[in-house]
Amino acid sequence: MHSSFPRKVKIVGTLGPASKTVEQIEKLIRAGLDIARLNFSHGDHEFHRGLIANVREASKRAGRPVAIMQDLQGPKIRAGKLPGGSIELKTGDKVVLFPEGETPKKGGKGRLEVPISAEIAMAVTTPAKVGNRVLFDDGKIATRILEIAAPEMVVEVEVGGVLTNNKGMNLPGTPLTIPCLTEKDIVDLEFGLSMGVDAVALSFVRTADDIEDLRARMKKKTDNPPLIVAKIEREEAVTYMDSIIEVTDGLLVARGDMAVEIGAERVPTVQKRLIHACNQLGVPVITATQMLESMVGSPTPTRAEASDVANAVFDGTDAVMLSAESASGQYPVVAVETMARIILESERSKELYSAGGHVVMPMAGSVVESIEFSASRIATHTGSVAIAVITHSGVAAKSLAKYRPEIPIIAFTENDEVVRRLLFTWGIRSMKIPQIVPTDDIFAVVERVLAEHKLAEPEDLIVITAGIPTLRRGTTNMIKVHRVGASSQSPRPGRSI
Ligand code: PGA
Ligand code: MN
Repeated sequence: MHSSFPRKVKIVGTLGPASKTVEQIEKLIRAGLDIARLNFSHGDHEFHRGLIANVREASKRAGRPVAIMQDLQGPKIRAGKLPGGSIELKTGDKVVLFPEGETPKKGGKGRLEVPISAEIAMAVTTPAKVGNRVLFDDGKIATRILEIAAPEMVVEVEVGGVLTNNKGMNLPGTPLTIPCLTEKDIVDLEFGLSMGVDAVALSFVRTADDIEDLRARMKKKTDNPPLIVAKIEREEAVTYMDSIIEVTDGLLVARGDMAVEIGAERVPTVQKRLIHACNQLGVPVITATQMLESMVGSPTPTRAEASDVANAVFDGTDAVMLSAESASGQYPVVAVETMARIILESERSKELYSAGGHVVMPMAGSVVESIEFSASRIATHTGSVAIAVITHSGVAAKSLAKYRPEIPIIAFTENDEVVRRLLFTWGIRSMKIPQIVPTDDIFAVVERVLAEHKLAEPEDLIVITAGIPTLRRGTTNMIKVHRVGASSQSPRPGRSI
């Protein structure tokens, strides 16, 4: 194996109190972090500004590109602040939910009182129906609606527990009309755009319109908007997954809220369906939440967690994600190392691992897809050691990755943003070249870079795709099988071609 970039599936790590300094982040990058996720459910702008600066510095020190994904909180429904910070809810208790700051009208009669955020109380109670469930704290506390008098409702506790301040609420089966972007999200988005984040993750997406709205909003602020990553965690988003995947740049299987919203037993099949649909269209997909959860407090994963990461790899995911494990756990670096090891071991089992076992075909009539599909086949048939893609926008490299070639994919581009955005896609390692040079030099550049990274040695065959003769954008039209060390004017015939 020549490869110094052997891992195909990418690692997303959430940053937080346990991973906020340049030194800590540099260790995460050296352990394999490709994408840093900033969770805007926590921390103010100053905190995130510091994280962004530290990621960029750590990336420089480690000599590896790292993308930054801003994760917007979205319309997460929360219970408010409780007197004394907590309340015990017991099975059979009746509880009035009321807008925070007001006096509950449905109180009394021995009912307990729990405030919910005032801005959303009306939007939550209006579509709700008597008999629907209201869950707290990731579903740990379960209640059922007895009575509705918008903006208040009375619920009965079915599964009790101690509720503490500001815990999340879920209303499975209640079609919420709250817009995907809250006022806080809009302010956070402007901040993210001003900081030049590479991707924006949109929580609680319902339909493709949510994605289009965000894109329109971003286009008003910038000519080159970041990638949009749709977080699939609601029943509606599962229903409309095909149309969402058509318009989004990336997708995140948000298994935490998803399990509460649709039932944990449906998560594995929905994960597989989402990954398969994304793979078909070449939309990068991230599998997230509780992948190595026990590593928040332990230096080793459970067997089930190791299997979960491996199975996401076998499903064909582009990336896997760490949440609390890297943000607030005791072993952030060990968690990233562990994830990288499980991925590498899984990728070694070729018989289990071929984009979920599905064959992806090029889109009829597309020159770039046809070229990249053929390049992946030629590389396999010739025993080539790497495929180099000269790409301006990144489209050609993403197209090649759809066909899941086993050998390294190296994307050469002159744009730093493209280098970072390609980190979201399976298998692509991207490199910046100063500018696209005339045709003959490009092969020399590719050869030199691949040799430097020990991806190719003299006499090895490599496959190169590019746009000839001008190397302008959108012109990918060429495949070259190139023998390292041979002049591009007089190629030596290869044994295997
Ligand atoms: P969150 O998203 O961590 O922002 O809630 C992930 C999930 O719901 O699984
Ligand atoms: Mn979520």
